[in-house]
Amino acid sequence: MSVEKSKALFEEAKKYIPGGVNSPVRAFKSVGDIPRFIEKAKGSHIWDVDGNEYIDYVCSWGPMILGHAHPEVVNAIKEQAEKGTSYGAPTELEVKLAKMIVDMVPGVEKVRMVNSGTEATMSAIRLARGYTKRDKVIKFEGCYHGHVDSLLVKAGSGLATFGVPTSPGIPEDFAKHTITVPYNNIDALKKVVDEIGDEIACVIMEPVMANAGLIMPEDGFLEKVREITAEKGILLIFDEVITGFRLAPGGAQEYFGITPDLSCFGKIIGGGLPVGAFGGKAEIMDYLAPEGPVYQAGTLSGNPLAMVAGIKTLEILKKPGTYETLREKGKKFAEGVKSAAEKAGVADKLCFKNLESLSCVFFTDKEVKDFSTAATSNTEAYAAFFKEMIKRGVYLAPSQFEVAFVSIAHTEEDIEKSIQAAEESFKAIKEI
Ligand code: PMP
Repeated sequence: MSVEKSKALFEEAKKYIPGGVNSPVRAFKSVGDIPRFIEKAKGSHIWDVDGNEYIDYVCSWGPMILGHAHPEVVNAIKEQAEKGTSYGAPTELEVKLAKMIVDMVPGVEKVRMVNSGTEATMSAIRLARGYTKRDKVIKFEGCYHGHVDSLLVKAGSGLATFGVPTSPGIPEDFAKHTITVPYNNIDALKKVVDEIGDEIACVIMEPVMANAGLIMPEDGFLEKVREITAEKGILLIFDEVITGFRLAPGGAQEYFGITPDLSCFGKIIGGGLPVGAFGGKAEIMDYLAPEGPVYQAGTLSGNPLAMVAGIKTLEILKKPGTYETLREKGKKFAEGVKSAAEKAGVADKLCFKNLESLSCVFFTDKEVKDFSTAATSNTEAYAAFFKEMIKRGVYLAPSQFEVAFVSIAHTEEDIEKSIQAAEESFKAIKEI
């Protein structure tokens, strides 16, 4: 496999863009490989500038749940582009997408559009603080909520990849308002809430952790978090930027039957264009300007191109059977990778996780239930596995601390080929 063009472009990119990329994990730094510069994508496949073809399990980190360049989404974007790409004034499209989100997600009565997941969590936190008139925020270790100052404390995703728990550039005065507790540890949360519950504006969490690999809530955990927060008037924010519209039409809150006060979205609702959203109880959302005192705004928020891509994506997702198909494909992939590891004789050194169309193989023999157990993974072995897989045309996340995304466009053949590649790759790597 030649990657000469990608290599040359990466060198060129580094002259003009810090690290050569516009988002750190894309640089393939932790796996020690050359980032592939992508030329095009269709369905479950992507092609790089050297003409190599890959089965894609990154799917733009989640948005491409229908696969790349879905014809109906592409058409909707084309038609809208002819009518103009941004007006800075309200449109019917925004009303339509907002209504769809409200209808689909149990905890959302009103919703505001923004341009990224980061903006959604940042704004939701400001709203929670404004509404409760409290400053402190509780987050869970290893949950990633975008690069918001106060949320880049013990965060997952790229920070876990690069071993940076908190970024320089965030004043201690900001970070001191963020309290972190281990995920799946209700006693730790209870202790903080018992001590200073009336200073805490909100608990923000990924209901299923998907930025430190994949970590599921233990039985009763989400219920207890809901109970403890409600008792103290602390708002519960579900960051459903990954789980939203993926685990179920109404996201993790529908899947687990727990209703948060506020929810954050991104990725899928933009159908591959830059979108985020946050929503929740009308009473809280009406605290936002211009109705209420909490300021929040955006030149391109509710952008018509992004709205049509999101509307079309949700329309397709809502068709009967879509989520069953996604679950089946996700399961087939995850179970196949596990059986590949068994055949290669390495399964006992790994920890396998799968929920609907999300999955992850941790290179550790520990049962992963929080960030510290995830961190026992052998990231060098993951890097070796990643390199073997990409050589065989299977494009996984270039980090142990991310998940594999399966889309409805992944075919049976794609999945079988990927499982075969996994078996060969597990056999090829020397040490786990
Ligand atoms: N929250 C979660 C759970 C995420 O996974 C991400 C991004 N991966 C974000 C927030 C931030 O979204 P964005 O990158 O669109 O700012």
